Amino acid sequence: MENLFRLVDNKQDSISPRCIWVNGPIIIGAGPSGLATAACLKQQGVPFMILERSNCIASLWQNRTYDRLKLHLPKQFCQLPNFPFPQDFPEYPTKKQFINYLESYTKHFEINPQFNECVSSAKYDETSGLWRVKTKTKTKTKTKTVSNENEVEYICRWLVVATGENAECVVPDIEGLSQFNGEVIHACDYKSGERFRGKKVLVVGCGNSGMELALDLCNYNASPSIVLRSSVHVLPREMLGRSTFELAVMMMKWLPIWLVDKILLMLAWLVFGNIEKYGIKRPLEGPLELKNTKGKTPVLDIGTLGKIRSGDIKVVPGIKRFCDGFVELVNGEKIEVDAVVLATGYRSNVPSWLKEGEFFSKNGFPKSPFPNGWKGNVGLYAVGFTKRGLSGSSYDAMKIAQDIGQVWKQETRQKKQRIKACYRRCISQF
Ligand SMILES: Cc1cc2nc3c(=O)[nH]c(=O)nc-3n(C[C@H](O)[C@H](O)[C@H](O)COP(=O)(O)OP(=O)(O)OC[C@H]3O[C@@H](n4cnc5c(N)ncnc54)[C@H](O)[C@@H]3O)c2cc1C
Repeated sequence: MENLFRLVDNKQDSISPRCIWVNGPIIIGAGPSGLATAACLKQQGVPFMILERSNCIASLWQNRTYDRLKLHLPKQFCQLPNFPFPQDFPEYPTKKQFINYLESYTKHFEINPQFNECVSSAKYDETSGLWRVKTKTKTKTKTKTVSNENEVEYICRWLVVATGENAECVVPDIEGLSQFNGEVIHACDYKSGERFRGKKVLVVGCGNSGMELALDLCNYNASPSIVLRSSVHVLPREMLGRSTFELAVMMMKWLPIWLVDKILLMLAWLVFGNIEKYGIKRPLEGPLELKNTKGKTPVLDIGTLGKIRSGDIKVVPGIKRFCDGFVELVNGEKIEVDAVVLATGYRSNVPSWLKEGEFFSKNGFPKSPFPNGWKGNVGLYAVGFTKRGLSGSSYDAMKIAQDIGQVWKQETRQKKQRIKACYRRCISQF
């Protein structure tokens, strides 16, 4: 093997510019999941390489989230392995605090991702028993600001997919949307409601992001309407003096999921009253059951419901089509809008580059759900596809590092023993 590829120990100073052998696993993606895996591998003494398409760590958090964002879940459920949040962090750290934490994490574990390397294909080569990973690298020339695209191929034994559940934006196909005159942006490009002051804005999608963006627009004196196509579970972020998430986790240790759902919905009813009268229908399945079966996260309310109740945010049914300056809804109503924010979610991009069909399904998630979706065959791993946020990523990262670490230690020990034995033979010959 070592004759086929020149060895470089996780450095770019390769002798061959096209084909680089990586000693240890390749991790694709330098978001929280990739970083957590890297840190755990460091602790196992396993070298690795991280390939990241953007120019920074945690690009989702740095470049594609709105200003007022705070962690949706309490901090104890979001910290990465072996490095706690600073003690003075609030219960729900701000986006800036979380990014600072990730930067300290990267520095502490001396993780150095290769930036601007977008993986365009990854394929297992049966003959050699190795993964072949191709990237497109963007390099800026000295004279021009235009970027050049170079292709590099990496060869490795283990491949860790950490490209995230939110790698690409989902833009729905709605009649007339592309001809709509006003501004249309995806939530990933929304920073604050400043530029929408005084405007009528339609927020499409009522997950946690859509609900929070509608609240943000309200705070900037815009007039938001939010589209609720079917149904959604809205729960208070805190109940009985505790975070709802923590309460649910505690109850699930003792009670069946259906009973926890009933208790949560009863408590939500005590806090909110009947929300159907504001146009918010609840799904038939309970919030945790729905999360478990369909991965649909309940909305944890941080004030949007109050604005809906006061009439500052309007809830409207699904969209039939966009026309010039107005939107026709499925109930026949026509509303005027100046701008549209698509809070229509994200998707995994794994099927576009991973040439594999056993471990990952067509939707870009591992076929086996949590807690079994971290390990595939032939050295393939996945981290951060658990639909359980950052705590799921930490779980996967630790399992992967242990698994690879075990093999790594065994093999390096054997190699050392072989070298020692050979050395002894040499001495006895002379
Ligand atoms: C608005 C918002 C708020 C959230 N709040 C919370 C919260 O409070 N708590 C919680 O637990 N979770 C939250 N989440 C979920 C959140 O996405 C994850 O917790 C976390 O970011 C997942 O980390 P990740 O590393 O798996 O994915 P990401 O953060 O998406 O990182 C994946 C990385 O892979 C890179 N990448 C993708 N494709 C390629 C490729 N082909 N080649 C090279 N690199 C590639 C991307 O550039 C990115 O840097 C939130 C998500 C959003 C959108």
